[in-house]
Amino acid sequence: MSDLISSGYWPASVNADTLFSIDVFSSFEEMKTVAPGLSRQGFLRMLERRTCLFGRAGKLHGDVFQRSFMEYTFCQYQCEKMASVEHFTCPACTPNMLALCADGNRKVYRFRQSKGSEEPYFDGTFIAKDTDVHHFVDEIRSKMKSTAGKGICGASQWSAARETARRASKLDEEGLEVVVCRHGVLLKALNMYRGEIFAYPLYLQKELQAATNGQFYCTDIACKYWPYLEKLAVSMLELRPLLQMRPFLSVMHAKAHSTKCEIIWSGKNQEGAGTTAGEEVEMVNSYLSRCALTTKYMTKSARNDMLTVHAIGWNRRKWEGLHLALSSRYIKTLKKAEAESQKLEDLSSELGCPENIVHQWVHDVRQWASDDSVGTRCDDQHNLQKSIEQMFLGVHQKKASLYNHTGMLKTHLIFVSFLLLADDLCGLFWYYSVFRSLILKCLPFNVRPIMPFKSFDFITF
Ligand SMILES: [Zn+2]
Ligand SMILES: [Zn+2]
Repeated sequence: MSDLISSGYWPASVNADTLFSIDVFSSFEEMKTVAPGLSRQGFLRMLERRTCLFGRAGKLHGDVFQRSFMEYTFCQYQCEKMASVEHFTCPACTPNMLALCADGNRKVYRFRQSKGSEEPYFDGTFIAKDTDVHHFVDEIRSKMKSTAGKGICGASQWSAARETARRASKLDEEGLEVVVCRHGVLLKALNMYRGEIFAYPLYLQKELQAATNGQFYCTDIACKYWPYLEKLAVSMLELRPLLQMRPFLSVMHAKAHSTKCEIIWSGKNQEGAGTTAGEEVEMVNSYLSRCALTTKYMTKSARNDMLTVHAIGWNRRKWEGLHLALSSRYIKTLKKAEAESQKLEDLSSELGCPENIVHQWVHDVRQWASDDSVGTRCDDQHNLQKSIEQMFLGVHQKKASLYNHTGMLKTHLIFVSFLLLADDLCGLFWYYSVFRSLILKCLPFNVRPIMPFKSFDFITF
């Protein structure tokens, strides 16, 4: 048998009646990584046509091919593991990861109708064991009474921001919740059975926090998730270490949250986060969604194995291109940092405000954002509307009288300081919207200037 394997063949049965060339397996693996939507049937049909053309007779058995391929891949994985290859770590940011990004992918579902009793080879390797996750979710439910309904922030309703969800009837696994590092390397995943609930990212955070020393935990619903974690940590002591990490609202998603939320939670305003976008998980998800074209019809174990093979393939591709991606990213970031500092300087001198005033503004806007008492919690909409109207009128009168007396720019500054003194919601909002670009550029100060986020700029590799 060992002679066969060392000669480049893989036995499909114990007696080695049928042999596969290892070349076929590695071709299939490579093709699956490049084109995740390729089905086993498609590949076998191609092989059949090809072998017919070159004079080989007989049929290719799909199930035997699938089983042998998995056996081969699993053995290869074990061999690499013995050689200390870590398949689900990032060489660039291990052992101290800056950011972990978690998100659910509801396209990687599986239909209930495909049943199978066999055990997966890669049980718990990449996708966490279902029993462990169920156990964790049940424990959380017993500790905290959950509130139903979706989370609302700003004008958007976030389906991921919920504590409970109903099951879909035709589906078994409803999707995958994955965590990647800021370089897009897959770290861990779990099967979702109840839509996107907070318990899923929480489980993954618990699993990875100690192993990766992560500093930031990026989600698209950080403003809802973090208070939930804090509440839960009161009753569950084992979750307390998770609070050592810092919340990070993904930069693009933050635009759809409320303005206050964006100021407090957005990753762009977190000190030490650098140019992390928190959206790195999206590109992995677009890859995994393509895998779902075939995995949704598979049995439970086959899906688990195939997704693990895909994840290993994705990570391998990441590692191979990492040196190029990092060096080009470094140069790009340096150039951007320089250009942005220059821009900030120009804008400050154009508006005639010294650095300390800008810092004061930043501080004021932050204070305004974190202060919930000014009207935002007020349920009485009528009162709120009335007070805003009054303030608006007052502001207009004050503005008119000030314009009569002083020059344009000076008036602005006096007016702004007046508004700050008044500590007024309406005024601050106006003031924030006028000087928004300047303020956002300076958040946080004392660290490197923050890059303006361009859509999908981070997809550099
Ligand atoms: Zn990394
Ligand atoms: Zn929010």
